[in-house]
Amino acid sequence: GKGRVRTMEKVRTTCLYCGVGCQLDLNIGADGKLVKVTSEPGVIPNDGNTCVKGRFGFDFIHRDERLTVPLIREGEAFRESTWDEAFDLVARRFSGIKEKHGSEALAGLTSAKSGNEDNYIMQKFVRTQFGNNNIDHCARLCHASTVAGLARAFGSGAMTNSIDEFSDTPLIFVIGSNTTENHPVMGIKIRKAVAEGKTKLIVADPRKISLTDIAHIHLQQKPGSDVALINAMMYTIIDEKLHDRDFIKSRTEDYELMEAAVMKCPPEFAEKVSGVPAEDIRAAARLYAAAESASIVYSMGITQHTTGTDNVLSLANMAMLTGNVGKPFAGVNPLRGQNNVQGACDMGGLPDVYPGYQKVHLPESKAKFEKAWGVSLSDKPGLTVNEIMHDVGSGKIKGLYVFGENPVLSDPDTNEVVKSLKKTDFLVVQDIFLTETAELADVVLPARSFAERDGTFTNTERRVQVYREAVLAPGESKPDWEIITGVANRMGADWNYNSASEIMDEIASVTPIYGGISYERIADVGLQWPCPDKEHKGTAVLHQGKFSRGLGKFHPVDYLPQQELPDEEYPLILTTGRMLQHWHTGTMTRKSEVLHGIVPEGHIQISPADAGRLGIGPEDKVKVSTRRGEIEIAADVTDRMKEGVVFLTFHFKESPANALTIAALDPIAKIPEFKACAVKIEKI
Ligand code: SF4
Repeated sequence: GKGRVRTMEKVRTTCLYCGVGCQLDLNIGADGKLVKVTSEPGVIPNDGNTCVKGRFGFDFIHRDERLTVPLIREGEAFRESTWDEAFDLVARRFSGIKEKHGSEALAGLTSAKSGNEDNYIMQKFVRTQFGNNNIDHCARLCHASTVAGLARAFGSGAMTNSIDEFSDTPLIFVIGSNTTENHPVMGIKIRKAVAEGKTKLIVADPRKISLTDIAHIHLQQKPGSDVALINAMMYTIIDEKLHDRDFIKSRTEDYELMEAAVMKCPPEFAEKVSGVPAEDIRAAARLYAAAESASIVYSMGITQHTTGTDNVLSLANMAMLTGNVGKPFAGVNPLRGQNNVQGACDMGGLPDVYPGYQKVHLPESKAKFEKAWGVSLSDKPGLTVNEIMHDVGSGKIKGLYVFGENPVLSDPDTNEVVKSLKKTDFLVVQDIFLTETAELADVVLPARSFAERDGTFTNTERRVQVYREAVLAPGESKPDWEIITGVANRMGADWNYNSASEIMDEIASVTPIYGGISYERIADVGLQWPCPDKEHKGTAVLHQGKFSRGLGKFHPVDYLPQQELPDEEYPLILTTGRMLQHWHTGTMTRKSEVLHGIVPEGHIQISPADAGRLGIGPEDKVKVSTRRGEIEIAADVTDRMKEGVVFLTFHFKESPANALTIAALDPIAKIPEFKACAVKIEKI
């Protein structure tokens, strides 16, 4: 009414950026637009904390460049279309390719940025309408080796423990995770616990990341030497009889096989391979083994290698060796990168499993989902991201549906990816902006952002949390699940979903680990899976009393060098990653004024020794090249880098790191080696 002051409306939601899953309040002004983001103390998992991305990084949702209507390619340009025309065209072309070339000529990429409901519908679409299991997503590029490694060792590929525990963990071993930049609120917890004297910290990282400033021990290993480093720590633990024999005997199997491999790797050998002094390796091993409980935290420094699965298995070995699994303040804790990469995997956005990791090749899961979905399904595992891109390039895959991903900038060896995508007969991209990948599409479908619809994300500690509609959606954009349903129904499905909540009920009915999840139950606080039934309170610590697979399994792991070692022509090792102020391919953060204002462009980090030798000063423009491509970028000369190693983020399209990276894959997980390839740097 007149004279009444309209107060800001607050809508509780889950952060869209990283896997910590902070709970945030979107403050909406009288014009229905986002004014600011606040957060409430006492609410898990972030207790009122946020990072700069969660606090200031959401202004992209109101940008004019948002996609508002479907676009259809006409020659070199796009024209606007109605949803009806776009749906009809997409359905007709996909159906036509299937008829002419068979089901195998189609594939889809699903999205770790989007909700569980959208991912569930996308994999259901590929499996029922394309008729194959060619569905994968960027989890392949970040934690495929985690899923493979931890499933083999423990029976479940997820973070074993919970975020809250990190305030009181006696020892934390961070390896290959730049936690303060990439999972900032986790980083805050670790920093605080160390400052309060509650936690001893060991950091293993090729760079002096900011956690190394407060670490009790920093192991600055060469990229690609992790197995040698961890094996040598285990060598010390066994040699000095610091291992937990009771745990090994009662809870695990195949210890002897592992021991035989480890005893081939004394710290002196690891020193040669990793550059870390043997005495430091021994000291770290003693500190880790002596702790009452010790937690391993890792991320892509471990996973993104041709030995990614081996690296993960080694960490699982070390945790079991010391009895540090299946209890609070311990475990093996992969920090998942994207807000919903855990959920996208849980929902079956992977080529070998249905929702809840039920294997597609097993007759009982096939029968279960055929009954639930009312169609016959393929029991042949589908292709991974890299295999899909390969088959797109070779012409075997003719139709591709890319949902909320930007492979042009995110996948290794950009030049090859673009060449491949240009070869598709029919490329559909569904996104909120015209990304570098969308620019190559035949049809672009405009989606809603997380602030314009309801849904759930599952954070890195397996907690299923809601995000809510808070602002008006631009133009005619639709929720992802509605768009995919529109295409499916024109290809012959008959799906009648009215809400995301209804889809979650279907998810719960076919996914045992989500069996007890419903919107009603998670309205205030999310639940951690496994949550098998409506009375279950969720699971904070996995593998208590018994591993998901029964006994924990030790694996013998031998050190193998990275795929591409430095040589005379390409003498330095390039490692890639991310930074606090930006997110992945920059689609959102580079459209945020605050974030772009703080860091407008990329730099290559190089050690003073290498820079001196090459005559490179701070901010000098350099040319960086590998056998696959070259970029130009300014230099950041910093003693945070070790001699012989340089670092790039992949956020900046003007200096795309993945023009340089190598598409060499881990043989089991098929994850590319983003963390190590050989480069040459020249001053321009
Ligand atoms: Fe968002 Fe992660 Fe930052 Fe929390 S720590 S505000 S979830 S980006």
